[in-house]
Amino acid sequence: MFINKIYPVSYNSNPYFAKNQPERQVSSPGVQSFAMKEMPPVSMNYFNPGMDNFILGQAINFLSEVEFSQEDMAHMENIGVNIAFNSGKEAVDYIRDENISIKFAPLPSLGHHAQFQEDNGQKNILINEAYSNTRNFADILAISEAVLHETTHAKDDDVEASIQEEFDALAMNALANRYHSRKYPYVFEASSSNIVNDGVVLYSKLFFDEDPKKTALLKRIDEKYGSLPLESPNHNLKENSILKGYKFNTISFQ
Ligand SMILES: [Zn+2]
Repeated sequence: MFINKIYPVSYNSNPYFAKNQPERQVSSPGVQSFAMKEMPPVSMNYFNPGMDNFILGQAINFLSEVEFSQEDMAHMENIGVNIAFNSGKEAVDYIRDENISIKFAPLPSLGHHAQFQEDNGQKNILINEAYSNTRNFADILAISEAVLHETTHAKDDDVEASIQEEFDALAMNALANRYHSRKYPYVFEASSSNIVNDGVVLYSKLFFDEDPKKTALLKRIDEKYGSLPLESPNHNLKENSILKGYKFNTISFQ
């Protein structure tokens, strides 16, 4: 059912990117081109979830390489995260085993980077179509991290949402972002994309903020998800959770 395709090409020499691609507007082109050169050759030999989309296929491959550091995992557990997957490969295996589709789709705004939805038993991960023609390495890594977030939503097999569930899913994209930031230094710094700067990189910073109470993270979660219930099935509030005691949904954000 799944097609394994080999794309033994490097990012820069890939004809897919050379054809019909307008030059991207970036704030610092010199840094940007440096970052793009950092993208390593990638082969599509792992798994392509039936979508035959080069960008999403690459994102899946970059997700499959993700390994969380023990320190990062311990940090997440210490602040009350329920860890959904122990590695990127575990999540990609889940996507394959559950036949989850991943595709670009129109989402309500650029602030909606990705979304999980289930239609008649088919689980779908939707990525904002604003990135469907991206040539940018940081975007592709960010998409892979967003896929991990949405796979966390897919895993609990229910339609209920909660603050704890978002907390758990956001922690996963932060862990993956930490891995990619270490493996590909400077790639994210050069990015001007919303999915990077107001998404995955932001949550890396907020989850690993020096403030032990993580007030900035809690405020952000409140702004985005404060109206949801605190817990949902498989996303229980842990004894040591920093979510405990925070008064969600008490401020009106206009
Ligand atoms: Zn979410």
